[in-house]
Amino acid sequence: MSDPCIICVAITGSLPTKENNQAVPITIAEQIESTHEAFEAGATIAHCHVRDDEGKPTSDPERFARLKEGLEKHCKGMIVQLSTGGRSGAGQARGGMLPLAPDMASLSVGSNNFPTRVYENPPDLVDWLASEMLKYNVKPEIEAFDLSHIVQATRMAKDGRLKGPLYVQFVMGVKNAMPADERIFDFYIETLKRLAPDAQWCAAGIGPNQILINEWSIAKGGHTRTGFEDNVRLDRDHLAPSNAALVKRAVEICQKHNRPVASWQQARSILGIPLRTA
Ligand SMILES: [Zn+2]
Repeated sequence: MSDPCIICVAITGSLPTKENNQAVPITIAEQIESTHEAFEAGATIAHCHVRDDEGKPTSDPERFARLKEGLEKHCKGMIVQLSTGGRSGAGQARGGMLPLAPDMASLSVGSNNFPTRVYENPPDLVDWLASEMLKYNVKPEIEAFDLSHIVQATRMAKDGRLKGPLYVQFVMGVKNAMPADERIFDFYIETLKRLAPDAQWCAAGIGPNQILINEWSIAKGGHTRTGFEDNVRLDRDHLAPSNAALVKRAVEICQKHNRPVASWQQARSILGIPLRTA
């Protein structure tokens, strides 16, 4: 029997709007409902951004608190991962929700280009975010947009700035950053295994690369991410009706490759995140 595959659902992100797809959850109530459906379909990590009243990305800790509380109540056992990404805020505001002590938070450890700008992650901010995650016992998910980010994460784990074992997300298909290239993907896996043998990895593809990266990550023994943040379509001609529909597609790929889909208990055990009881 092969290892269980953890499916992460990135429910909202910073960019998708109702104009792109009516089913993208924007309000907290919509986010909780959409996550619940995705959880029932097999997702066990919810990667979360929040939006303000106009639907624009924000790092507002109060909104994150309401979302986290709703998810913990309605999706019991699911791992809640809050984004510290740079599209929602600037500087230390990006980590203002970490005192909420979510199960996980995303962490970028280096800079790169995005479609229309530089994604800035200066060393002092990265170190501060990492130290806050240590302080509040939040497991980081390292967002690797580039090979150097994988190497940097292993350095930070070695010198104690990050608590291991590492959980690294390979992100491919962002315009002006790393494309979905299978030989580079294989080299990512090889490099992570060489530098951090106890690490676990996941992968996400943007737009039409989502299904491709789901296939590669599931076939090659990793975990996988889907959801509206990365892609709003089932295929070129059809919008995805829900986050759950994208999760179901990932579940089918797991079945094809004989990978059991991780239950929330298995996901927590694989990542070393006990269920916190309030
Ligand atoms: Zn995100």
